[in-house]
Amino acid sequence: MEACNAYYYSTRDPLGRDGDFTTAPEISQMFGELVGAALADCWKRAGAPSDAIYAELGPGRGTLAADALRVLRAAGFEGEVHLVETSPVLREAQSKAVPEAIWHDGLADLPVRPLLLVANEFFDALPVRHFVGVMERRVMIAAGGLAFDRDGEIIERSPAREEAMHTVATSVAQCGGVALIVDYGHEKSAPGDTLQAVRGHRYVPVLVDAGEQDLTAHVDFEALGRVAREAGSTVSDVVTQGDWLNSLGIGARAASLATANPKRVPELEKAVDRLCHEEQMGQLFKVMAIHSPDWPAPAGFAQ
Ligand code: SAH
Repeated sequence: MEACNAYYYSTRDPLGRDGDFTTAPEISQMFGELVGAALADCWKRAGAPSDAIYAELGPGRGTLAADALRVLRAAGFEGEVHLVETSPVLREAQSKAVPEAIWHDGLADLPVRPLLLVANEFFDALPVRHFVGVMERRVMIAAGGLAFDRDGEIIERSPAREEAMHTVATSVAQCGGVALIVDYGHEKSAPGDTLQAVRGHRYVPVLVDAGEQDLTAHVDFEALGRVAREAGSTVSDVVTQGDWLNSLGIGARAASLATANPKRVPELEKAVDRLCHEEQMGQLFKVMAIHSPDWPAPAGFAQ
């Protein structure tokens, strides 16, 4: 999964209608603007530390960063922008959207400073491991193709995600800051195989065309929350993307954009529906925040 995704992301921009999948920030500017507003509000209530940085994991085309930073800059945030991205193709797109950015290959390279961090659909792309009982399920070459070496009830684990979360949560606990993790997944750990492949906006078999399709698995937010707590961060409840965006005021933002340009009303209504409706992204996608015990909790979560 790691090798396939490294190849996949380094050889293409997979986002948008002509690509393989579309993400929330690519649907509407409102998504990134509300992320920016939530981070700006938290930063201000923490005393607006001038050494804080904006950091993003797997920023895609840089659309979320550009929309969030517009709001953060308007709120007086002048800090640096640090992007963790391995794909040269996507770094190129990000440099157009966020010219001032500084890039890193891995999370461990982020500076030791208060973080205003966001990760949208980053954790789902990190590799998972499958276990049947105590045996790890592996992929083997069979009849010229790839096949799993065993079946049974699958327990899915992701040491790579836990390591990434440990790094973020340790930094936040020690230096201050807040991190917003947005991804599709489940609030409670449960057995089951959630590995999936998407190509051209359709689900396809996972072991076909290795490296040519987007491989992801649902994020186990309970496991990530446990790791973050152990590292000393405070962890929010897990809320649905629909509830989160509604409580951050997506309705008011859509109304204000519609007043500024009434021709946009149909597009804005469609975007709110796609982002928030429970049959679209509103229910499947979840949001979890972690923050330093010295920082206030970000808006949008039940306290
Ligand atoms: N956040 C963006 C893109 C999501 S796609 C959006 O919402 O539109 C996943 C992103 O994570 C891509 O930018 C991809 O190149 C990056 N990525 C995947 N695996 C990574 C890894 N191991 N290290 C750094 N970036 C990675």
